[in-house]
Amino acid sequence: MKYTRHVILAAAISLCASMACGSAALADDGRGRSANTGEYDALDYDVSLEYKDDTRDMSGSTTMKAKAAEDLKDVSLDFAGGRVGEVTVNGRPAESVTEGEKLKIKTEPLPKDSAFTVRVDFVVTRKNPDDPEHPGKQQHMPWLETDRGFIIEPQSPGTAHRVFPCKDDVTDKATYTFHVTAPSDLAGIANGDLTSTKKAPGGTTTRTYRLSHPVPTMDNQLAVGPYTQVNTHTRQDGVTIRDVVPTDQADRLRPLLTPRTDRQLDWLTAKLGRYPFTTYGTFAALAPAAFESATLATLPLPEPGKDFGGYLMVHEMTHQWFGASLTPKDNFGADLWLAEGHAHLYGQWYASDPENPGSEKALEAAMREEYGIDQGIRDEEGAPAEPGDYSKTGITQRTGGALALYALRQSVGPQTFEKIEQTAANRYQHKVISTQDYINIVREVSGSDSATTVLKNWLYNPKTPPMPGHPNWHPTP
Ligand SMILES: [Zn+2]
Repeated sequence: MKYTRHVILAAAISLCASMACGSAALADDGRGRSANTGEYDALDYDVSLEYKDDTRDMSGSTTMKAKAAEDLKDVSLDFAGGRVGEVTVNGRPAESVTEGEKLKIKTEPLPKDSAFTVRVDFVVTRKNPDDPEHPGKQQHMPWLETDRGFIIEPQSPGTAHRVFPCKDDVTDKATYTFHVTAPSDLAGIANGDLTSTKKAPGGTTTRTYRLSHPVPTMDNQLAVGPYTQVNTHTRQDGVTIRDVVPTDQADRLRPLLTPRTDRQLDWLTAKLGRYPFTTYGTFAALAPAAFESATLATLPLPEPGKDFGGYLMVHEMTHQWFGASLTPKDNFGADLWLAEGHAHLYGQWYASDPENPGSEKALEAAMREEYGIDQGIRDEEGAPAEPGDYSKTGITQRTGGALALYALRQSVGPQTFEKIEQTAANRYQHKVISTQDYINIVREVSGSDSATTVLKNWLYNPKTPPMPGHPNWHPTP
């Protein structure tokens, strides 16, 4: 079974398609589809998309502001699954050619460090590419159709460029404005803050969202459907909460989110420090998806009588720090554990004992269980920071990554561990972080090499190491 990044352990549903736990098979150059001809730094995207009933084609435009990292004569963007219309660079029409999933654009010479703007008009078709492992079947990404509308799950590696032209490189984070147009009885949804709702011609409405902190292209949600924004309130810490739920289920879903989200955010903020964005909430999507979409976590709709599940809520909430804010550098391999290990640790810690959410006892019990199954997972997938050929499911990054963090906590004590976490979250806020960066912080904060030795052993050893403070823990036979 192929899992993607935010899969909940032991759940039969495929949650959290994330680039990293996604199948590395799609990455053709080891960095996702990031090998652009001229190097540049994407800074900001303004993306428009128009949904119409009865067609899977959507017209749109991407305006990318960027800075040349070297002298450029051409610029390339990633795009697949659609047709390109007019292309301009700095407002002037530019020649472009599509080669595979690259859109190569000729430009006037752009000197190193110069700012430039590329606009691409396009039509994209909501159709997933064929799955090479199952000919005739389509891959489950990034498009998910709903009755009237769609959602996206763009995480498995670099599939945001199947939605709109962009530099689909996890390490090149940018800010976004999204304008989603849909028939007025539906709502266009995106992450970020809703900044305007305007009636447009033809009985349509355009909603505009702004995300003013940089995130990877894959961390965005774009959706259309019969949704309503609920539970809007501003917390004492200044963070605005708003949830997006199917309109006809708002009464049922509203109390399943507030005040639970607030309690979880209080708990996680105490552990990790200030929440890195200005807005948070849950998008209860009319499709079976779950991923961290920055500031608006996408979760599957609970069945009648059920709730969203504390594990999944806290897992995706943790990804707002480790994932969206602190983005793993090698998000397809060696550094993914930084996102998944953290999300799994805090998700389990909070949710494994519903009577005592976030208690020490709950943490110990959850980690003891994980300890028992860790060797089997290492045998299949490799060590968390050295995943092998079977790393496609991303479970070693989750289970082994969480255990590695727990072992570190056992070794340095809860207070120093908390300081390590908050130092990392603060120093690498809205940046890209590697395993070595995190190890350096462990050494700096703990003041000794013994903690880094414990952590590295847990991250790289093919055998499950002993757990500090728990000499009686053994693998489950
Ligand atoms: Zn995850």
